[in-house]
Amino acid sequence: MSLLITGSIALDSVKTPVEQHHDLLGGSASYASIAASFFTPVNLVGIVGSDFPKRYIELYKKHGVNLDGLQVADGETFRWSGEYEWDMNKRRTLSVCLNVFETFQPRLPDHYKNTPYVFLANISPQLQLHVLAQVERAKFVVADTMDLWLEIAREPLLELLKKIDCLILNESEARELMKETSLIKAGRAILKLGPKFVVIKKGEHGCLLFVKDLFFSAPAYPLEDIHDPTGAGDCFAGAFAGYLAKIDRVNHDTLRKAVIYGSVIASFNVESFSLGRLQTLTQHDIAERYEAFRQASHFETR
Ligand code: AMP
Repeated sequence: MSLLITGSIALDSVKTPVEQHHDLLGGSASYASIAASFFTPVNLVGIVGSDFPKRYIELYKKHGVNLDGLQVADGETFRWSGEYEWDMNKRRTLSVCLNVFETFQPRLPDHYKNTPYVFLANISPQLQLHVLAQVERAKFVVADTMDLWLEIAREPLLELLKKIDCLILNESEARELMKETSLIKAGRAILKLGPKFVVIKKGEHGCLLFVKDLFFSAPAYPLEDIHDPTGAGDCFAGAFAGYLAKIDRVNHDTLRKAVIYGSVIASFNVESFSLGRLQTLTQHDIAERYEAFRQASHFETR
């Protein structure tokens, strides 16, 4: 089953204490699409400016991403820059230039409208709602969000929650959304706002899955070489949704596996800047790390 993905497409500048790179391919939809492409065909909806490098278009194509829903507008591509501390869980946004995003009106090509699985990667909830309104007969809709929208677009975000099946967000956002210190209480409370499934990401410490009658905790992978954590959350969500689209079945078993495949792809992504590591990733690498995740959390009954 194919997966429709919308979100940001960006040129990123990223600084860590040891390295700095400019004009990298970034944006929530870029990370999510490439991550999902390891599992299922992707229909991308997004916008770039006339300055968007051809080599990045080629990169999407190499991964089989359908670009019929990609608008190329006069003007500059969305730009974001950020800086990490030695503790790479801590990031500071240095600048955001919306550019062509400012007037973006997502339009779904007719042949995208029946895509059965949908991932609304991080963009404003208004744009996410705009895309969702054009989708016909979706089987499963996943959405991601970020702290900014909790602050400036809470109402549209709450409206979105009533229309989706699954929300993915990180731990500080979950606490902030529910004004709750306990993550467990926050996860369960979000289920009451609409989504049947909630995934709370805890950065390098794994993630939690909440369903009415299921709680699942995915382990952290003991990675030694983290070069750039940018996009890890987007890769997690893209692979999570991509795996479910591939299997075309959503139940406790497939959700647990989707969480682990999400964690696997995210753990590879942080090994290099931008989408560098995902360029060389193979199905064998994915299977091997999936097994490492399984081993890391397996224990006998007694
Ligand atoms: P993450 O590391 O998962 O938070 O995602 C990082 C990506 O989000 C970067 O590639 C940025 O280009 C993109 N990004 C940053 N701010 C925004 C925003 N306000 N809306 C959409 N995408 C953003």
